[in-house]
Amino acid sequence: MRLLIQNGYLIDPAQGINTGKNLFIEDGRVVGLSSHSDSVPEGAQVLDATGLIVAPGFIDMHVHLREPGHEYKETIASGAAAAVAGGFTTVCAMPNTNPVNDNAAVTRFMIEQAERAALANVLPIGALTKNSEGTELAEMGEMKNAGIIAVSDDGRPVPTAAMMRRAMEYAHGFDLPVIDHCEDKSLARGGVMHEGHWSLVLGLRGIPATAEQVDALRDCALAELTGARVHLAHVSTRGAIDAVRRAKENGLPVTCEVAPHHWTLTDEAVQDYDTNTKMSPPLRSRDHIEAIFEGLRDGTIDAIASDHAPHHADEKALEYDQAPFGIVGLETAIGLAMDRLVNQGVISVERLVELCATNPARILRLEERGTLRTEARADVTIIDPELTWTFDVSRSKSKSRNTPFDGRAMTGGAVATIVAGRIVFLHPDFKRLTARQPKAFAGAAHHRS
Ligand SMILES: [Zn+2]
Ligand SMILES: [Zn+2]
Repeated sequence: MRLLIQNGYLIDPAQGINTGKNLFIEDGRVVGLSSHSDSVPEGAQVLDATGLIVAPGFIDMHVHLREPGHEYKETIASGAAAAVAGGFTTVCAMPNTNPVNDNAAVTRFMIEQAERAALANVLPIGALTKNSEGTELAEMGEMKNAGIIAVSDDGRPVPTAAMMRRAMEYAHGFDLPVIDHCEDKSLARGGVMHEGHWSLVLGLRGIPATAEQVDALRDCALAELTGARVHLAHVSTRGAIDAVRRAKENGLPVTCEVAPHHWTLTDEAVQDYDTNTKMSPPLRSRDHIEAIFEGLRDGTIDAIASDHAPHHADEKALEYDQAPFGIVGLETAIGLAMDRLVNQGVISVERLVELCATNPARILRLEERGTLRTEARADVTIIDPELTWTFDVSRSKSKSRNTPFDGRAMTGGAVATIVAGRIVFLHPDFKRLTARQPKAFAGAAHHRS
């Protein structure tokens, strides 16, 4: 199978490429790049990407696919469909399924389900501790052999520093990164939103920003002690971002990610008691968003991850206090990144590609992904920076509808997704988009940093 992606603007930070190029793919691998004027290789299918950005396939390091155990919320197949519709070629699935992915049998099951769906690549993350109970270490070696790429007890953070130390030492022995949801439960005290002005006004129990900062500082100190690679999930506070910045300055192997809702909405959005504004960590105040922008600009933040967390409408229909934490995010992540970060001049498109492809591949040691160099897996995300669209959750590929972004208008988004050389998602108006005049970004206008 041969595919030529023609006339696009190719951005691949791993190779330092940021220029107009054709991309030629054969049998699921990148063959190479050529100039726009070169002829079409014999027998190749042609995808015209005039005016579009062609990037290495985007990798979402943090999703919850709910299978096995909660298939009414999401399955691996429906989650993978939402992933490719949102422009992601690879997603990393958290282990808080039922049963928990704390052994090789569950890992293998997840990989088989993903292969059956044949849409996005699904890379499982194994649990740190058995049943994520924080008491006994999980069989990381067996799970690694079965295909996990990291370990985490996301959602049920390891409660003690001593246990986290042991988990890091063990994971380090298998060269697996430890992904941690930083939340000191003794400080969070059953809170349901960010502690501040709005929690007081609304009479809801608050989670102080310090609850995240304390665990982030703990993890950075333990990274130094153990030498383990530590990745902080969905950082949402100035304190946690500062902790990562200092850890990096000290040469520690610490990385972090941010989720789109944390730079798009503040805790003010909770005022209507819409449970689709309830997630963990919670929406924060303006100053924390400024800290995220700073971290995105100066390189402290390594990755963008959706923390896609499907829940059934009946569960989200409960009182704010009772409703589960989490929102879906696979189909809005790139739109919110283009709309709020790139088009507002916070980061360049090139930096976006770094955050969504280059860096996740580096953190997870996915050597054949995150780049379009020759012989790499032919996973490609094609972006239209000028696409104007409105998210309509009723047309989502996910089984769940829990989002605060239904009806939100955005500029910029993914318009085609290619996995292993196969087009698995194409925007319904793709042909019309590429028939427009070539756009200004193929010069300096969109290349701000
Ligand atoms: Zn989490
Ligand atoms: Zn999560």
